[in-house]
Amino acid sequence: IYILGIETSCDETSASVVRDGREVLSNVIASQADIHKRFGGVVPEVASRRHVENITLTIEEALEEAGKTLDDIQAIAVTYGPGLVGALLVGVAAAKAISLARGIPLIGVHHIAGHIYANRLVEEMDFPLIALVVSGGHTELVWMKEHGQFEILGETRDDAAGEAYDKVARALQMPYPGGPHIDRLAHEGVPNVPLPRSWLEPGSYDFSFSGLKSAVLNTLHNAAQRGETIEPANLAASFQDSVTEVLVEKTLRAVREYGAKQVLLAGGVAANRGLRDRLQNRCQAEGIPLVIPPFSLCTDNAAMIAAAGFIRYEKGQFAELDLNGVPSLSLSEH
Ligand code: ATP
Ligand code: MG
Ligand code: FE
Repeated sequence: IYILGIETSCDETSASVVRDGREVLSNVIASQADIHKRFGGVVPEVASRRHVENITLTIEEALEEAGKTLDDIQAIAVTYGPGLVGALLVGVAAAKAISLARGIPLIGVHHIAGHIYANRLVEEMDFPLIALVVSGGHTELVWMKEHGQFEILGETRDDAAGEAYDKVARALQMPYPGGPHIDRLAHEGVPNVPLPRSWLEPGSYDFSFSGLKSAVLNTLHNAAQRGETIEPANLAASFQDSVTEVLVEKTLRAVREYGAKQVLLAGGVAANRGLRDRLQNRCQAEGIPLVIPPFSLCTDNAAMIAAAGFIRYEKGQFAELDLNGVPSLSLSEH
């Protein structure tokens, strides 16, 4: 089964052809990062307009790179939420047009289900499993008993992990998106700046990053007032240490409590070296298999959407042609 995946939820226009939900034949990504950089974040209207300009060519390129035509495609999988509504609608409209014109099924995919299923492009899932989802808009611990079933054990109460990275990066005068820059800088420093760890109530699987972000800003501010300088690399290393310690330890606690057979790492922040290394070490120590997608499949892409769409294809969970973009689509009801 060849599925054409389409993703336009934020600032990446992407199309991909995936065979049987596992094998990536093409994964074309037109990023708008350079355009949004000057605004220090994604500007929704600009993103929608860019998606409109890019979508047709991106789909054509994905088919061509895969050596396929629309005649070979058995279904269209598209992100319909969560995300920016104007951005989502461009992908959804394109997917509906192809579905209608070619008479092939349309599949609506939850963006975070896509991030999780990026892992299945690397290795088969082994249930029950725990997925740690860390992206620009989400930070969640997800419990999966079987394909397509998502139970949220905990989530962020304020900022998402990626959001915290981007805000701290901005305070350190780094360009948007700042996550990768902090990651690089962190490896040049030592975590010697005292920063809090937000464990929240005992037993809670929720996260909170806004207190940590404020602590970083206060540290910078107080040092400036005293005429001292803080080595940015050490501050980045300390921030990364706090974020990754809480993420990794809560994940491992969930693994033990629920008896998971596998851990998946998902979302744009899964590209973070510090997080990958720490989770790898801890999972190895506990003897629990860990899957991490390659960098190219961590940030937004359509291959992960096609991979998640394949599960719905197999279950016959198709969308009607009145499918709409849903900006705040929930994962557990998906
Ligand atoms: P969501 O998936 O929640 O809708 P999104 O699609 O905007 O949000 P992703 O594309 O999954 O988010 O991830 C982008 C985020 O990942 C940004 O916040 C970016 O800074 C962060 N990020 C990317 N690489 C790294 C890294 N190496 N270290 C830390 N953060 C990173
Ligand atoms: Mg993005
Ligand atoms: Fe994403």
